Amino acid sequence: MYLSKLFIPILKETPSEAKIKSHQLMLRAGMIKQSSTGIYSWLPLGFKVMKKIEKIVREEQNKIGAQELLMPTIQSAEIWKESGRYDDYGEEMLRIKDRQGKEMLYGPTNEELITEIFRASVKSYKSLPQILYHIQWKFRDELRPRFGVMRCKEFFMKDAYSFDLDDEAAKKSYNKMFFAYLNTFKRLGLTAIPMAADTGPIGGDLSHEFVILAETGESKIYSDKRIFDIDINKYNNSDSSIEKLRKEYDNFYAVTDDKFNKNDFDKKVEKEKQLTTKGIEVGHIFYFGDKYSKPLNCSVDLQDGKKVNVKMGSYGIGVSRLVAAIIEAKYSNNVMKWPDQVSPFEVAVIPSLQKNDKSNYLKAEKIYNFLKDSNIDVLLDDTDEHLSAKFKKFDLIGIPHQIILGSKSTDNKLEFKEVNGKTENLSLEEIKNKLVNKRNIN
Ligand code: ATP
Ligand code: MG
Repeated sequence: MYLSKLFIPILKETPSEAKIKSHQLMLRAGMIKQSSTGIYSWLPLGFKVMKKIEKIVREEQNKIGAQELLMPTIQSAEIWKESGRYDDYGEEMLRIKDRQGKEMLYGPTNEELITEIFRASVKSYKSLPQILYHIQWKFRDELRPRFGVMRCKEFFMKDAYSFDLDDEAAKKSYNKMFFAYLNTFKRLGLTAIPMAADTGPIGGDLSHEFVILAETGESKIYSDKRIFDIDINKYNNSDSSIEKLRKEYDNFYAVTDDKFNKNDFDKKVEKEKQLTTKGIEVGHIFYFGDKYSKPLNCSVDLQDGKKVNVKMGSYGIGVSRLVAAIIEAKYSNNVMKWPDQVSPFEVAVIPSLQKNDKSNYLKAEKIYNFLKDSNIDVLLDDTDEHLSAKFKKFDLIGIPHQIILGSKSTDNKLEFKEVNGKTENLSLEEIKNKLVNKRNIN
């Protein structure tokens, strides 16, 4: 992509309505634009980052055998009346009528709809277990939308649903998802801690919120510091290994507000190992048994002819919230620091321009074409601004690598700068290999 062609409406000033860094930077770098309260358009740069996050989320879902489908955003009120949630959900639900006066709604979540799909086609125990997911827009008429896409009304979510015969099998599905979530967030460059969350009237221990630490987060968290040192690479995707992984997490106290109990905390965690701080919830997994399958009458035939309601769990990841959450976790000195794998571009080629001398620009274009042909997501700065103005822009966008064609580059060795400030002189081939290798690690 040529910078001069890129639609990126950068703002000079920080908009006063933006209270937290990620919101400020996303507006300033032209990633999003508010269209009305809590509703945003995703501009090319922001959309690109979100798509890269979505891809990683999808790959990790597929790895555990979850299957992708796509349910509509608009749902019929009928199934919500069947489950009893049409009234319970309250004002967060956006209710709509079609021209026949039929009650509809913009889906805030999809337990009812997926159960309806499942009950219509699956009749036998032989078809279980099953995990289905989609990545789709949701609408919740939040009372106080704030912090940009962090808490907004229309947001992009991955939601998965598992179907099993009994509690024991359901726990396996739950654990698989637990594993997939840890891997997903790790690939996104985040340390997300599974925190025991409230299961409400369902009971049991199968509900976790995945939280990343951030001062601006809305969740208050209480944990044993040692939980941050768990190395998930020790584990593989077999059921028994994942079970061990869960046990290791269970060893350490880690809860959010609604489960917090001061006596428990003090009893289970020595004072100097206690961590009380704030975090951003980026995902939530939840086992709820037959809460929906029962009222919606979703059952399968067992071998002996008896019928049983399927046991379900649901598993959400805030894909659009993650764009802001990654910024919040990584930025420093007013600069976005994208991890390579989700950065809007992997590398920028930045030539200094001398009037009447096109040679440096032509060299930059050659480098650009070479990297592009090697499938590297590269941006060419073809504008005629001064280098200092160019650097400011790239700092704002936060591209993790720069090839600078200035006084420090020679014909064979190019100045290659990484986001941490490290600068090396490398051949183009070396740069390409470096970028490709980095991508493979992640
Ligand atoms: P919260 O406590 O933040 O309101 P929730 O418990 O309502 O979250 P879930 O229903 O579990 O959230 O949704 C799954 C994920 O969707 C959350 O972990 C979060 O990342 C994301 N999410 C939820 N509400 C919003 C919102 N209003 N704006 C952006 N992302 C959201
Ligand atoms: Mg909510």
